[in-house]
Amino acid sequence: MTQTATNTFTVTNPATGESVGTFPIHTAEDIAERATAARTAQAWWAGLTFADRKRRINRWIAAIASQSDEICDLGFAETGRPRGDVQFELIAGLEDLRWAAAHAERVLKERRVAPGMALFNFGARVSYPPLGVVGVIAPWNVPIYTVLCGIAYALAAGNAAIVKPSEYAPASSVLVIEAFATANPDAPAGLISWITGFAETGNALCTTGLDKIAFTGSVPTGRKVMAACAEHLTPVLLELGGKDVTIVAEDADVEKAAQAVVWGGFFNGGQACVGIERVYVTRAVREPFLARVKEIASKVTTGLDEGDAYGPMIVPAQIDLVRRHVTAAIDAGATALVGGVDSIRAPFVDPVVLVDVPEDNPAVQEETFGPVIVINTVADVDEAIAKANATRFGLGSSVFSARRGREIAHRLKAGGTTINSVLTFVGMPSVPFGGIGDSGFGRFHGDDGLREFAAPKATTTKRFQMGPDMQSFPRRPDDFEQVRKMVKFRYAKRRGV
Ligand code: NAD
Repeated sequence: MTQTATNTFTVTNPATGESVGTFPIHTAEDIAERATAARTAQAWWAGLTFADRKRRINRWIAAIASQSDEICDLGFAETGRPRGDVQFELIAGLEDLRWAAAHAERVLKERRVAPGMALFNFGARVSYPPLGVVGVIAPWNVPIYTVLCGIAYALAAGNAAIVKPSEYAPASSVLVIEAFATANPDAPAGLISWITGFAETGNALCTTGLDKIAFTGSVPTGRKVMAACAEHLTPVLLELGGKDVTIVAEDADVEKAAQAVVWGGFFNGGQACVGIERVYVTRAVREPFLARVKEIASKVTTGLDEGDAYGPMIVPAQIDLVRRHVTAAIDAGATALVGGVDSIRAPFVDPVVLVDVPEDNPAVQEETFGPVIVINTVADVDEAIAKANATRFGLGSSVFSARRGREIAHRLKAGGTTINSVLTFVGMPSVPFGGIGDSGFGRFHGDDGLREFAAPKATTTKRFQMGPDMQSFPRRPDDFEQVRKMVKFRYAKRRGV
């Protein structure tokens, strides 16, 4: 990707340098125009029933699916990732759209709630009106999925969205977003729109005064986004980086664990927020596990051919980060079980597996976001959990154990854990997805993901007068006496003690 003029940039294939397309650098004025259109469109969208919105989202899904070959070709062209991986993220994004549309009414329709004893003369309802216009900012590593994930729950909840895909991979997302208007010619222009550009454009989106920013990206940018959003007290959802861990317990199926760790670490060239970067293997199964990881990882190939497991590093700066982490680990006494510094042959990086890396090393503590797995040995599961929880991140995690999977999962500090497999919580729209600590806050997916884009509202209705009217003046001494008796009656008796 290179800036080609003051107001445009060109996206190129990271491996071949071929041009994929030229995109505008949108300004704060452009964004303000989009926000105005989005506000009008959102009022129309919020006025539709859940069923009407679902119908339109489903039409959009069909339109995207009919263009899926073109979308996957563009996804391959702009990132160099295997077409199979692009298809995979497209499916995950479409599942999000379908789930959000199908479940919005169940989760967000107005409901009656009990008013409580003290105010039982009132009726009480909770409704979930949409927030308004949401800004979605997305990264380059799974550009289609992160864009669709950001839009799906916001749109199904009745919001409009202005989307800023990454400057490294906007082409496929733009096509996906434009398919909405094609599929729904009756929708006002601007219900979902896109903007492109760099940090300045993203910052302008944050300071426009939208009703929420759903940001997916790195921790440093997440901090800037939150600070910029503070200007208008715009709420933020932050889906940030990770240092995901896998625990291989004494009673693990070693073969399954080795297969899954290699895939989970090298899928997308490790450029996945939920990619496996750390493994704690218990001493009892260390040797067979390392032997199988070595065997499997050594056969993983990198390149642009159909059979290659993954493509180039999409952003050149990531290559320097990978080099820094691998060098730091080896300098600190780690062993390279597979690959090493020589695995870096930019723009490609072949698989690297490092063993026995000191816990305070950057390769253990910082997000690498490349095809590097660190495997450290622990005496038992307790030590594994303590070390697993000892980074500032807490996105995904996984555990391999025949008998103790759920116990270990509950003790891991992370937004999600997969037992006897890896990453599956990401592709399941019914369960919340997000992190804790430096991995961010807020959730996409599931009931929580829909509520993330609504403003819960209480409506209470007086049905009849009960006892003294404490909401009027003057009060009579009698009123206080009645309240005094009520306090004794209701609270003095111990309950459940
Ligand atoms: P990044 O933070 O560099 O950029 C993300 C987006 O933010 C881009 O669109 C960029 O243009 C925009 N941006 C940059 N500066 C901005 C600013 N000051 N204000 C507003 N927007 C700004 O991240 P990246 O390098 O594109 O993506 C990799 C990171 O994303 C990794 O850390 C990865 O773990 C994380 N990620 C997280 C998830 C998740 O769901 N938790 C998913 C995918 C990627």
